[in-house]
Amino acid sequence: MSRYLQLCRKVIGIGRNYSEHAVELGNAVPSKPILFLKPPSSIITEGQSIKIPFGCRKLHHEVELAIVIGTKGKHITEESSMDYVGGYMLALDMTARDFQDEAKNKGHPWSLAKGFDTSCPVSRFLSKEEILNPNSTGLWLKVNDQLRQEGNTKDMIFNIPYLISYVSKFFTLEPGDMILTGTPSGVGPVEKGDTIEAGLEDIVTMSFIIEGAN
Ligand code: MG
Repeated sequence: MSRYLQLCRKVIGIGRNYSEHAVELGNAVPSKPILFLKPPSSIITEGQSIKIPFGCRKLHHEVELAIVIGTKGKHITEESSMDYVGGYMLALDMTARDFQDEAKNKGHPWSLAKGFDTSCPVSRFLSKEEILNPNSTGLWLKVNDQLRQEGNTKDMIFNIPYLISYVSKFFTLEPGDMILTGTPSGVGPVEKGDTIEAGLEDIVTMSFIIEGAN
């Protein structure tokens, strides 16, 4: 396991960072980043299974590029932001969409929808040398060999330097912390027994099996 995963104390998710995805869920395109948290206990690595949370009837996949922080910082400028990046991972922001819909309707937090056990599967650690242009990198996701999501980080509404700078105004970023940069369009449901395979161009692939209710 990467030493960064052992250090991780927070995973910060960015909501609706690709306009096509915002539109597919009937949401407005945001004027500033939408932040939520996933606890480090939600992280799993290959070989572990994604478990459907208790009572969930609509578990959705979201494939995302994760920034892994390498250097501690607060109030980081966009210009210096890349100095704080330790590397990257490919991540799934697994989302209990039915829980999220209910929370949105009631004005409640997204903790259950986004933070349940196994909701943050990640790939192996990717060095900065492996992803030379993180603001223009393709990512894709298949369910049972069928392509569901295909996007490129160049379509993010808020790019990586902006996100690091913005998040660090509120949260001290520390080595091992992760920022999940949002998902392109094509999100959809998975069921018990399905296999999710996801990749970042031809740099890395990962796969996870969906298990029954947890
Ligand atoms: Mg997401």
